[in-house]
Amino acid sequence: MKFTRLRLNGFKSFVDPTDLVIADGLTGVVGPNGCGKSNLLEALRWVMGENRPTAMRGGGMEDVIFAGASSRPARNHAEVSLVLDNTERTAPAGFNDADILEITRRITRDVGSAYKLAGKDVRARDVQMLFADASTGAHSPALVRQGQISELINARPKARRKVLEDAAGIGGLYQRRHEAELK
Ligand code: ATP
Ligand code: MG
Repeated sequence: MKFTRLRLNGFKSFVDPTDLVIADGLTGVVGPNGCGKSNLLEALRWVMGENRPTAMRGGGMEDVIFAGASSRPARNHAEVSLVLDNTERTAPAGFNDADILEITRRITRDVGSAYKLAGKDVRARDVQMLFADASTGAHSPALVRQGQISELINARPKARRKVLEDAAGIGGLYQRRHEAELK
């Protein structure tokens, strides 16, 4: 699965609808301090089901909603959509019959998050599981947060091993085993 588009509306500093085309190859995001580069990466994590507000640099999940500026009122919703190219049919069973797969997460103040996958209402867990085996996902080692390199250098061996396991794509197996044990 390839990421081809990221759409944001009301997410953090992206108050106006923003549609980013993610072309093949390496994508660089450049801009002055505070222009929203990290917010973009957070939007990507968020739409894949990230549920820890701290991973969004917030105290609560509603902190991702545009909080207002001197000239603009705060919003009540934030929405992020991620479009995936699935022409190689690598999406997990059940999601694998279309060339394009779109995931949308929307958060509403005092209500919380709702997810859609290919236009249908789904649970957060369905979206998280979609990425669990793909070595992508909100917790993917492929998404490197600012400051994470120095954290990795200073990490204990067990934490470092977890990063290597996730990078090797076996994190999803652990997650499925854990789910199976809970049932
Ligand atoms: P740097 O180069 O310093 O890493 P950056 O381009 O990564 O900067 P971000 O951290 O993505 O910048 O963006 C920070 C900006 O986003 C700040 O101006 C902050 O006020 C704004 N911001 C964060 N959350 C919200 C929110 N909920 N509503 C409005 N603006 C927000
Ligand atoms: Mg940054």
